[in-house]
Amino acid sequence: MKIIKSIKKIQQILAKERLKGRSIGFVPTMGALHEGHLSLIRQARRENDIVVVSIFVNPTQFGPKEDFKKYPRNFKKDALLCEKCGVDFIFYPDAKAMYPKGYKTYVNVEDLGNVLCGKSRPGHFKGVATVVTKLFNIIGPDLAYFGSKDAQQAIIIKRMVEDLNMPLKIKVMPTVREKDGLAMSSRNIYLNKKERKAATALFHSLKAAEKFIKKGEKDAGKIIHLMRRMIQEAQPKKIDYIEIVDAQSLLPVKKIKGKVLIALAVWFGKARLIDNIIVHG
Ligand code: AMP
Repeated sequence: MKIIKSIKKIQQILAKERLKGRSIGFVPTMGALHEGHLSLIRQARRENDIVVVSIFVNPTQFGPKEDFKKYPRNFKKDALLCEKCGVDFIFYPDAKAMYPKGYKTYVNVEDLGNVLCGKSRPGHFKGVATVVTKLFNIIGPDLAYFGSKDAQQAIIIKRMVEDLNMPLKIKVMPTVREKDGLAMSSRNIYLNKKERKAATALFHSLKAAEKFIKKGEKDAGKIIHLMRRMIQEAQPKKIDYIEIVDAQSLLPVKKIKGKVLIALAVWFGKARLIDNIIVHG
């Protein structure tokens, strides 16, 4: 496994691999790797000749009051995990190389980036779409892997790839959870013991909503109300949102019909946790 910091160098190396006819699978991450990331990497390993993982805490997707500086960073451990999973290249650029002085270009996926997490994190998805575009241009993957834990992100990236005719395929993999249902996240380490236990209410509320829908409930408002009550019992610091939206347009639905995304963002202590499930009504 090679660790490459230089944009030019990784482009040169991968151009040679492509000439040899090798397929490239790519997993973009912000590091602090856990089983969720590793599930994407293992899938990439199964399906490609070359596997590239990027580790880059992207400043443009963090708001001024968000946790960019405190975001967990543990490159040594990440590199060991990547090596164990059979990664060929870690792309590990500096922010200065990605956004040099005079940087001016951003990618904005309209509408989809302004709802759900986009409401409380203005500019977040513009930062995500921009860095992912840059990474795709640098790596030139055949396949890129994303987790459905960040469902809105995956939907936005798929839209962007289609709209901008980017020559690659996006694969979205299932959310990996802890034994008690909490979605794995690099931010879970912000939780103290009490908050960690309470945070299981998120998954439980999503499962309760799913059960409710499977029993025939169609009223989204009622389901959201039930979820809100369950989550409030766990005494979170703040509920950012609980929404039921169309799984493609991300627009809120009143009556459950077809494929809906039930998504939430809730603060426990210093951690803003997100989770979601897709349910067929
Ligand atoms: P991040 O490092 O948080 O930017 O995440 C990098 C990739 O890993 C994204 O595509 C995430 O959706 C994915 N990911 C993060 N957590 C999980 C999880 N628990 N299960 C599956 N994929 C995940």
